[in-house]
Amino acid sequence: MSWSMAPDFQLTDINDLTEQIRFQSKEGKIWFGEQRMLLMQVSAMAAFRRELVNSIGLERAKGFFLRLGYQSGLRDAELARKLRPDAHDFDTFWAGPQLHSLKGMVKVVPIEIVIDQETRSFHGELEWFDSWEVEVVKKEFGQLDEPACWSLLGYACAFSSSFMRREIIFREVSCRGCGDERCLIVGKPAEEWEDGIEFAKYFTAEPIIEELYSLQSQVQSLRTSLERQQGQYYGIGQSAAYKEACAKIDKAAQGKVSVLILGETGVGKEVIARSVHLRSQRADKTFVAVNCAAIPQDLIESELFGVEKGAYTGANHGRPGRFERANGGTIFLDEVIELTPRAQASLLRVLQEGELERVGGTQTYQVCVRIIAATNESLEQAVNEGRFRADLYYRLSVFPVHIPPLRERLEDLPLLVEHFLNKFHNDYSKRTLGLSDKAWGYLNSYAWPGNIRELENVIERGVILTDSNETISLESLFPTPMLEAQNTDEEHIYSDGQVIKPGDKPSHSWIDTVFNKSIGLDAVEEQLIQRALLEANNNVAGAARLLGLSRPAFAYRLKKLEEKQTR
Ligand SMILES: [Zn+2]
Repeated sequence: MSWSMAPDFQLTDINDLTEQIRFQSKEGKIWFGEQRMLLMQVSAMAAFRRELVNSIGLERAKGFFLRLGYQSGLRDAELARKLRPDAHDFDTFWAGPQLHSLKGMVKVVPIEIVIDQETRSFHGELEWFDSWEVEVVKKEFGQLDEPACWSLLGYACAFSSSFMRREIIFREVSCRGCGDERCLIVGKPAEEWEDGIEFAKYFTAEPIIEELYSLQSQVQSLRTSLERQQGQYYGIGQSAAYKEACAKIDKAAQGKVSVLILGETGVGKEVIARSVHLRSQRADKTFVAVNCAAIPQDLIESELFGVEKGAYTGANHGRPGRFERANGGTIFLDEVIELTPRAQASLLRVLQEGELERVGGTQTYQVCVRIIAATNESLEQAVNEGRFRADLYYRLSVFPVHIPPLRERLEDLPLLVEHFLNKFHNDYSKRTLGLSDKAWGYLNSYAWPGNIRELENVIERGVILTDSNETISLESLFPTPMLEAQNTDEEHIYSDGQVIKPGDKPSHSWIDTVFNKSIGLDAVEEQLIQRALLEANNNVAGAARLLGLSRPAFAYRLKKLEEKQTR
C-alpha cells in the first residue's frame, strides 16, 4: 500500500499524543509516555547553543544539535509505533511532525509526501514554521550563512529512518535562519543524495577528546619550540658578520666537537651555546651552563666534578657535580679562563678520557658530555702567560666561533629591538608605540660596550618607563647624565635659559648637567652603580673594581640603593 498527500490532506487528531503527557509536579517529574521529559526555557537552550558554537565552532556544534535531535526522533518513532501500530497508516508517520509541534519545537506543514512501504520508497517535502532554532539564531547571531534548524533536521532524519527502516536523510533546502523566506526540508533515502554519506557523518559522534589530545600535544611542542626561541637572539640578524657566525654555529652544532665561543661580554655567548645544544643530536638531553667566574675558586672543582662523602669536614653526603648532571647532554663553561690549574687538569681528563673523579674520591665516573667553552679574554695570551694549560687550550679550540660585537652589526638593531620590544611588552603586559626617531638615531651612534645584553637592559628600561600607546623616548632609554655626556655635539638649553654650544666645555659637560639640573649626588651614584653592574655582567666584585671601590664598600652602597628602591 502506498500513499501520497497534498496540502489539503485531512490530518489526524493529536489527542492520543497529548494524553501521554503527565505532570508529577510533587515528584519533580514530567512524563511523555514512558520517557521522562524536561520543560526548559528556549533562552537557556539559546545560551547553551551559543556557548557551544563559541567554544567548539559552528561545524562541531551543528553535529551536536543534529545528534540531539536524532536521539529525540528515535525515541518518538518508538512511541509512535506503540500508539499507532499500523505502519501502513499515514497517521503513524505523521505522529512525528505532530510530536514535534506538541513539544513546541516547530509547526510542520506537509507539501508533498510519497511513501510506499512495499518498495520502501520515500520522498518528503515539508515546510517548517516558527522553528525554535530560527528564533534563537535571530536573537543570538542575527543570521547564519547556512541553514540553522539543526536539531529539527536531526529529528526528521531519525524519525523517518526509524519509520521506513532504512536511512532517510532530510536536508533543509532553504531556512529563515540564513535569510531565506521559508524553512523547507526535503527528505529521501540516503543513497539518493549525492553527498548522503558525507552528511550522515554528522550522526556519528566523533570523539572530540581524541582530537583534543592530539591538538594538545601539538600545542605542547609548539610551546616548547617557542620557549626555546623566546629570550634568544640567536638567528636574529641579517648582517654579513652575524650570518657568517651563525653559519659556523650551524655546522658545529651537527658534529660532536667541542666549541669555543669567542666574543666580548654581552654578545650572547650562552644563548649561542644553548642553540648549539638545541640543534645537536643531544637536544633532548640536559644543558648545563656554568659561569666559572661566578664560582669561588676554592669551590670550582667540587661544583664541576662533584664531591665524595667525607672529602672535607662537613661533606656528609657525596654529590654529583655539573658534569655528571650534564651527562649525555651539553655543558657550557663561560669564562673558562677562570678555571684553577686543578680544575683545568680534571677538564682535560674529561675531554680526553670521558671520565672524572669527584673531589676527595678515587672512584672513576664515566661521562659523555659535549663541552662548549667561552671566554672574552684571549686564551692564547693566557697560555703564553702560563695561566692556562696549552694542551687544554688545543682541545677546547678545535672549533672556534667569533661572535661579532653589536657595534660591528648595527644593521641588526631594528630586528633586535623588535625582538626585545615584543619580549618586554609581553613581560610587562603593555604595548608602547616603539622608539622615537631621536632614540633610533642615538642607538645607531652608540658604541654598545655591553653589547646585546646592554641593548636588552636599555629596551627593558624604556618599556618600564613608557606607558602603553606612547613612544619610547631617548630619555627613558638612557639615564640623563649619560646622555648629556655623550651628546656634546648638540646645543643645550639649561633651566636658566643659557644655551651651551657644542665644544664649550666638552670634558665637563655631564658635570655641568649635574649642577645645572640639580640632579644630586644620590642620583649620580645610583646611575654609576647601575652602569658598573651592567659593565661587569652583574658581578659585584667586577663592578666594584670598575668604580675603584672594595667589594664590601660597593656592596654596601648597592644594598643602600636597593633598600631605597624597594621603599
Ligand atoms: Zn530553518
